[in-house]
Amino acid sequence: MSDIETFRSEARDWLEANCPAGARGPDSVLPDVVWGGRRQTFAHDDVKIWLERLIERGWTVPRWPTQYGGAGLTEEQDKVLREEMRAIGTRSPLFSFGMAMLAPVLMEYATEEQKLEHLPKIARGEIRWCQGYSEPGAGSDLAGLQCRAVREGDHYTINGQKIWTSDADVSDWIFALVRTDTEVPKHDGISFVLVDMETEGVSVSPIELISGASPFCETFFDNVRVPIGNRVGEENKGWTIAKRLLQYERSMLAESTGVGSGASTRRQSLLEVARESLATPEGQLPDAGLRDELVQYEMDRLCYGATYQRSTDAAKAGQGMGPESSMFKLYLSEMNQRGSDLRQRLVGHVSLVWDGEDVPAEEREMTRGWLYGKAGTILGGTSEIQMNIIAKRVLGLPD
Ligand SMILES: Cc1cc2nc3c(=O)[nH]c(=O)nc-3n(C[C@H](O)[C@H](O)[C@H](O)COP(=O)(O)OP(=O)(O)OC[C@H]3O[C@@H](n4cnc5c(N)ncnc54)[C@H](O)[C@@H]3O)c2cc1C
Repeated sequence: MSDIETFRSEARDWLEANCPAGARGPDSVLPDVVWGGRRQTFAHDDVKIWLERLIERGWTVPRWPTQYGGAGLTEEQDKVLREEMRAIGTRSPLFSFGMAMLAPVLMEYATEEQKLEHLPKIARGEIRWCQGYSEPGAGSDLAGLQCRAVREGDHYTINGQKIWTSDADVSDWIFALVRTDTEVPKHDGISFVLVDMETEGVSVSPIELISGASPFCETFFDNVRVPIGNRVGEENKGWTIAKRLLQYERSMLAESTGVGSGASTRRQSLLEVARESLATPEGQLPDAGLRDELVQYEMDRLCYGATYQRSTDAAKAGQGMGPESSMFKLYLSEMNQRGSDLRQRLVGHVSLVWDGEDVPAEEREMTRGWLYGKAGTILGGTSEIQMNIIAKRVLGLPD
């Protein structure tokens, strides 16, 4: 038996022995995402047991080195593990900004001490991270940020405001961009710092949106003292790290089908919806125009999936995707909005239900998901900004 076949067989046996019944199969009780953090609660014991067992094995982040909480698996072993997880209808029950965005840049830019401090806590889901990039006057023009960090002895004193900080109210730490020099060109005076949200002077205020409850918050820094040792990379060199993290963010968004479609993994496909809502008893869709759009959407979705897979397979291990992540992010977010609009048209007025005791949760979620989906072409950099990046960095067009 080859090494990889041996690994597959061992992984299968381990999963069989350790994955609790509730965390597998079509009736799995796993929520769409377990984000971890100090405030994490579990609606079902099996979710907690499954997470604890994977943490012990290093399989929440199978490819990370063991000293950082992973299992040091090769790419091939990781793929096999995922296949075996899929085969029993389960998945890794932990996902977070820490894992997808911060950890890769810590691996690349942090000191060994910082890695040992933060990576294992991310791998174990102990600390939930949020992203402190945008400010009221600095979104697309991120480098124009004003949140000020002044060096005083062994710490920085931070004053300023962040906005649109997703889930800041339930996060434990924030990775933030701060201005450490005001005398130089804007890109050259930024540093990347890690801040414990429990530090005195950090406060958070939730923002309400048209779609109802929102993950957004404003985050305020009022004379917040942060040790110099919490800076990642050199002082004033944070812009390089910031951009690298955005590539990981866009790769994460390009991989997810959730934002934009408002789709959860258990949601019906558009074809199923069409069959249920509009098809004749023989299974045909009488509206030829709608049929064409549906088929085009399904083909685009499959092509996207295949192209994305090919590109990620080709990407060098641990190196992320580079500016291509902007192409994928742009295409997926726009395609998801198209899918979401199509879903509305297929189900008709039901898709505009907002509230009411007799309204099924699924219908309410559809309206909110459609509205929230508008965010997909804004978060992680707007579609226009992705097009600018593609024009410059992929197509090589002049400014
Ligand atoms: C769901 C969601 C989650 C988010 N989570 C976070 C988070 O956790 N942390 C965080 O820091 N931020 C977060 N953001 C903020 C997000 O990064 C910003 O909203 C985004 O970068 C756009 O910035 P802005 O809102 O200031 O828009 P603006 O920059 O004011 O843009 C307004 C419009 O002008 C266009 N525009 C601006 N500049 C150009 C240009 N040079 N060329 C062409 N068009 C241009 C834009 O495309 C857009 O249409 C989130 C946003 C969303 C929607």
